[in-house]
Amino acid sequence: MQPLIDNARSFGQRPEEFARLAEGQSPQVLFITCSDSRVVPALITGARPGQLFELRTAGNIVPPHTSQHPTSEAATIEYAVEVLGVRDIVVCGHSHCGAVGALVRGDDLTAVPAVRDWLAHAATPRPAGQAEDPEVAKGVQAHALTQLLRLRSYPCVARKLAQGKLGLHAWYYEVHTGSVRAHHPQTDTFESL
Ligand code: ZN
Repeated sequence: MQPLIDNARSFGQRPEEFARLAEGQSPQVLFITCSDSRVVPALITGARPGQLFELRTAGNIVPPHTSQHPTSEAATIEYAVEVLGVRDIVVCGHSHCGAVGALVRGDDLTAVPAVRDWLAHAATPRPAGQAEDPEVAKGVQAHALTQLLRLRSYPCVARKLAQGKLGLHAWYYEVHTGSVRAHHPQTDTFESL
């Protein structure tokens, strides 16, 4: 913890670099990814403060849309789309994802019931042969595409898509190489950016 505190202390010594951020934000992209500490969106994309609106959840799961009760995920998506007017949404899965790995392997999660119940939202198919793959590449990629479908069920997203004002993208990030692949709908394959 102490190195993080030390850095935060020195970070705050450069207020002139950030003064303009008080005027507001106009990010072009909502970046949805896993809470995993190895995934650092600003590092991957080179985004500066104000450029990426982020939603991070365990396993980058987008829960089913419901108007029955409020969720943090729905509020974040709605704010990004309706208020900030982001032009693109990226769902970025990653290699060696513990959440997707647990889904693919069918792990016993009774000791972590909140995780178990959250992962039940995933609705992700289990690609054959993935249980032995520590990278769970195929599982993570299929999972990211499933979350894109979920996004389409959000009324604000569906409306912007129909208006041609929003793009949806599925990415796959390798934590052990730093490389990113994007899904190409025409070929249904993930290719290097
Ligand atoms: Zn993960």
